[in-house]
Amino acid sequence: MKYVDEYRDGNVARQIAAAIAQAADPSRSYHFMEFCGGHTHAISRYGLEDLLPPNVRMVHGPGCPVCVLPVGRIDMAIQLAQRPEVTLCTYGDLMRVPGSHGTSLLRAKAAGADIRMVYSTLDAIAIAEAEPNREVVFFAIGFETTTPPTALAIKLAAAKRLTNFSVFCNHVLTPPAIRGILEHPDLDGQPGPRLDGFIGPAHVSAVIGADAFAEFARDFAKPVVVAGFEPLDVMQSILMLVQQVNDGRHVVENQYIRAVTPGGNRIAQAEVAAIFELRDSFEWRGFGRVPASGLRLREAYAAFDAERRFAMAEISAADNPACDCGAILRGIKRPTDCKLFGTLCTPETPMGSCMVSSEGACAAHWTYGRFRDHARRAVA
Ligand code: SF4
Repeated sequence: MKYVDEYRDGNVARQIAAAIAQAADPSRSYHFMEFCGGHTHAISRYGLEDLLPPNVRMVHGPGCPVCVLPVGRIDMAIQLAQRPEVTLCTYGDLMRVPGSHGTSLLRAKAAGADIRMVYSTLDAIAIAEAEPNREVVFFAIGFETTTPPTALAIKLAAAKRLTNFSVFCNHVLTPPAIRGILEHPDLDGQPGPRLDGFIGPAHVSAVIGADAFAEFARDFAKPVVVAGFEPLDVMQSILMLVQQVNDGRHVVENQYIRAVTPGGNRIAQAEVAAIFELRDSFEWRGFGRVPASGLRLREAYAAFDAERRFAMAEISAADNPACDCGAILRGIKRPTDCKLFGTLCTPETPMGSCMVSSEGACAAHWTYGRFRDHARRAVA
């Protein structure tokens, strides 16, 4: 496959692995957080940790948009979908995320709620146009990557004068979450992860630009390397991070120059700024309320804001106490640290959000990593 196979070449991967092993100082250790769920998936899928020396460790971060959505927002969506006049449009992953008391959108649908899986915001617009007697609500989630399509859908709905379309907005911002980990690393008395640098998110950076992460490199003296999603991208980025740590540097470097620029996609940024504004704070799973970390629709687009249109009340609900998703999303624990992993909790029977989304750390480890665990145990 042209332009893909080149980034999965095993010989080149082994050469970069040798370079990392040579560069890594044996007298110290290196801990790098990959913020983005796409990188977590690539690291598990291609077994990249097996190519690293033992003193170079990867720490999973909170970059899976389904995983960080708190239980209360799922409960709010379920309540909305149970209104007889509402058709709730959602992406497939969200259907199976557990809400409170064993509920989910999938169970609400089975009980009669009109919940439909869509592949894009435009699918939801098409349903609203085709069924003018239904109140069609798009359940919008995600980081800076998925916000521009939601902005364009609202712009399109306004242009079409659609009066039966609205958005339940749960879009969140990446930089405040990274700041939250660095400023308040601990969780419920558990010490936070040791971090020597970050692999910066790929798709998010294509929108907001690599420069958006300069504040972390500067304020917290943590190097950031924005990386693509292919295995060689990740390996090269780890080498770049090791070299920065060795040199005592802490700047933003851009490994993913084929897609990411310093300033990002200005057109997408302008579309988002025209439709959305910052919330004072927004709740994240595992983080609690994070200041200035979420978006809502501007007053001019209030008619398309489902929270105002349906007077939705904020719900705050606790996670399943047996689930370690919160600690995993902060990099404090690994999937196998959770006693439910692979027993009560599997992709078919998810007890937490990290097992639902393919980008979640638990799902990634279940799909790929657990086989290496077996192999390691067998060798030991
Ligand atoms: S294994 Fe399941 S219950 Fe445990 S942290 Fe992962 S998603 Fe949550």
